[in-house]
Amino acid sequence: MAGVSAILDRFRLRRFEDVLGQDAVLGSLREKIDRGGDERLPHLVFTGCPGVGRRSLARLYAQTLLCEKTGEEAPCHSCNECTGVLIGSSFSYVEFSARQIRDERYFRECVAQTKLGLKTADWRVFLIDDAEGLEVASADVMLKTLEKELDTCFIFVVNDISQFPRALRSRCQLFRVTSIEQEALVSRLKMVCNRESLIYEERALSVIAQATGGRVGEALTKLAEVASLGDVTLASAWRILNLEWGETMIQCWLAQLGGRLDEALSHFERIASDDEGRVRAMQSFASAVHFRSSIGALPFGISPALECLADEAWLPILEGWEELSRRRSVPVTSLIEDAMKFWGGVNRLTPAQASFHRGYERLFGAQKDGLARE
Ligand SMILES: [Zn+2]
Repeated sequence: MAGVSAILDRFRLRRFEDVLGQDAVLGSLREKIDRGGDERLPHLVFTGCPGVGRRSLARLYAQTLLCEKTGEEAPCHSCNECTGVLIGSSFSYVEFSARQIRDERYFRECVAQTKLGLKTADWRVFLIDDAEGLEVASADVMLKTLEKELDTCFIFVVNDISQFPRALRSRCQLFRVTSIEQEALVSRLKMVCNRESLIYEERALSVIAQATGGRVGEALTKLAEVASLGDVTLASAWRILNLEWGETMIQCWLAQLGGRLDEALSHFERIASDDEGRVRAMQSFASAVHFRSSIGALPFGISPALECLADEAWLPILEGWEELSRRRSVPVTSLIEDAMKFWGGVNRLTPAQASFHRGYERLFGAQKDGLARE
């Protein structure tokens, strides 16, 4: 009879291709690996519910970086570095749980250890599990290390992304490992596209899967509608699903925060076909920004058009608010809450363009009834 550990070893994830239902994550990971040392954001956060395979993916990624082989051959699972990741014998690799190790001195020693010799890898990799449990002092050591050391990759496995230090979060690429339903539907759509020789964008398929709430029949119908316009692109998926205004809203707010009123107004006009729709959209967006800025995610049900926007789409918006906050010396949360309050209080019967002008002036503190009076 084979030993338990030998059986477990056979079960272990050996190739990215073996991961089921996480195609989007795998695609981005592959791209990241291919970019290698040119990667702008080498660090990663894996988040999602426990049990969906975040740590397995994280270790596999660590092995791929450290493996003595390269390209398709990595990870080889037999070199010193690959086995070192699994049994803890690599000088290039440190793994611990932030819930168990709370003393930042331990972490300083780990950093020092990876600078010793005996390693064959170009990288040093730190995998920190339960990373939302990091103490402030440890998080600071990490922040300094990851900003200073170019050959270092941090992988954080996080249960609750809202508890994870934002300074670290902003320096990492985020991977949401989802339960399989949504991804299984995307795989299904992809299979259909391949069989029918349709040219498609991955994001278009995930938007269709998300917007149809996992209902296969409806998703296939929408896919057919999108395909009737030509290639299955994200833009045409947004159009068919009536979600275009999410992206338009991003453009509208980027223009507002950048002080480009005319451009902002022209986006605003395109958001909906009537004034009431425009005001509602501004209300949803203001509260979405509030959630994005405070907890880094949207609660379910805010609006599919905003939920299906990629994380990257929100970054320049949040940066725009931060910038405005610095310029006006007003805390960013106060600014966002003021915008929420303003749009929440707009009378839907008032011409929306007039409200837009008032909201714009208030954003920059040019109108007395804004923050100035508080
Ligand atoms: Zn290897």
